[in-house]
Amino acid sequence: MNDTTQLTLLTILSTRRCRKCCNYYPSTDDYFSRTKKGENSFRAICKLCRAIITHYYYESNRVKIIEKHRLYATTHPEQIVETLRRYRENHRDRWAEYVRLHRAAVAETKHRYYKANIEKYREWSRRYYIDHPEKDRLYAIANPEKRRVLVRNRRARKRGNGGSFTAADILLIFQSQNGKCWWCGKKFKGKEYHIDHRIPLARGGSNAAENIVLTCPACNLRKQAKLPQEFAMRLF
Ligand SMILES: [Zn+2]
Ligand SMILES: [Zn+2]
Repeated sequence: MNDTTQLTLLTILSTRRCRKCCNYYPSTDDYFSRTKKGENSFRAICKLCRAIITHYYYESNRVKIIEKHRLYATTHPEQIVETLRRYRENHRDRWAEYVRLHRAAVAETKHRYYKANIEKYREWSRRYYIDHPEKDRLYAIANPEKRRVLVRNRRARKRGNGGSFTAADILLIFQSQNGKCWWCGKKFKGKEYHIDHRIPLARGGSNAAENIVLTCPACNLRKQAKLPQEFAMRLF
């Protein structure tokens, strides 16, 4: 066996012919992926060909594939969460980049997940505050406004009036009222305002932002469960 034959033999042993494009490539992970069976068996088709096949398959079956994924996501919510969690763990940089580029979409997904599992979250937080009573008090001190929103929403939920509002809604309402009491028009002293239901919850008013007005403490106390027209009669 001369040197040339030996070299040719070596080349043949360490290369692999792609069944699709018929090119010879080194039998390494750079050119072939492994089969599911064993660590030592390479696929018959080179990576480039596989990528092209996958791409064409995806392009021509896009709608079907997306539909399939969506169906899977609705029937396997736990698996999706787990897969995503593992992905985030293994690809921290890529995930951070994704969040940076798709901030709104990520927030939307989180919100949808929260809405779909709202009872679970409520149960968690109920239990959390029962186990950590001091946290509840600290939160109230640190976030007086959010706290007020929470308390109002909780009360309305108990009554079953429907609707909810956020701290952001309150800020908007505050701005739209120019920082003045809805009823008497007096300027609020800093954040000294009450969250009031225009149509009281006790009279069937909703807890949605549309039914919320900000009032000075005095007006809120005097109004109590009166309807707007009943209270207005008293004012003038
Ligand atoms: Zn190929
Ligand atoms: Zn007032």
